[in-house]
Amino acid sequence: MSRRQVELAANLADVEARIEAACVVAGRERDEITLIAITKTWPAQDVARLIDLGLRHFGESREQEGHAKWADVRDLHPLADQTTWHFVGRIQRNKAARISEWADVIHSVDRSALIAPLSRTHPAVLIQVALDSSLDRGGIEPEQVPVLAEQVLAAGLTLRGVMAVAPLHADPRPGFDLLVRIRDELVRTHPSATWVSAGMSGDLEAAIAAGATHVRLGTSILGSRY
Ligand SMILES: *Cc1c(COP(=O)(O)O)cnc(C)c1O
Repeated sequence: MSRRQVELAANLADVEARIEAACVVAGRERDEITLIAITKTWPAQDVARLIDLGLRHFGESREQEGHAKWADVRDLHPLADQTTWHFVGRIQRNKAARISEWADVIHSVDRSALIAPLSRTHPAVLIQVALDSSLDRGGIEPEQVPVLAEQVLAAGLTLRGVMAVAPLHADPRPGFDLLVRIRDELVRTHPSATWVSAGMSGDLEAAIAAGATHVRLGTSILGSRY
């Protein structure tokens, strides 16, 4: 094993222990949570190493970088066709169609202008909800989720659930609780919308306690990006 492989294995073991401990505290089963490794800024070789370590879900936040890495991984690893790619970043309208060429699940749909370009390839989508009043980190206001959900469905896309990023410098729990309530409401009219994508390296415990189904972990697995 290369040094990097050893490092990734150790980080992954630490993160697994955190997830399992959080599940115990929350009275949840480990298999209720999907771990998505956010590999932005890290090379395709790291994705290949993580595939060897058993991971199958990967996330990226920029179209060009993600697209290139996805293609490289297909050349690098024989199990690439068993991986699922998640797009978690802000979406520029003119990039939406290209994102849907490689991303299987798009977590960050937050306005109706994105729906038409995405619907050409029919990826699964999550609606990103803004948990604080500053919308600069992306997301739609909670009250506007039902209307956007109808538009997603009308375009023939599969609505898988909701996603959020915790507010900066604040206790993440109230926001994550709100996100889960929004999902609970949504799933009554959209039965496929069961996913709650919440929790990053710093707040995965709070997200699992609230009911997250998908955690998006970058630095805790791959190291600091800065
Ligand atoms: C970068 C990123 C993550 C991962 O963040 P870490 O703190 O490195 O775990 C998760 N979600 C989104 C939307 C991101 O952009």
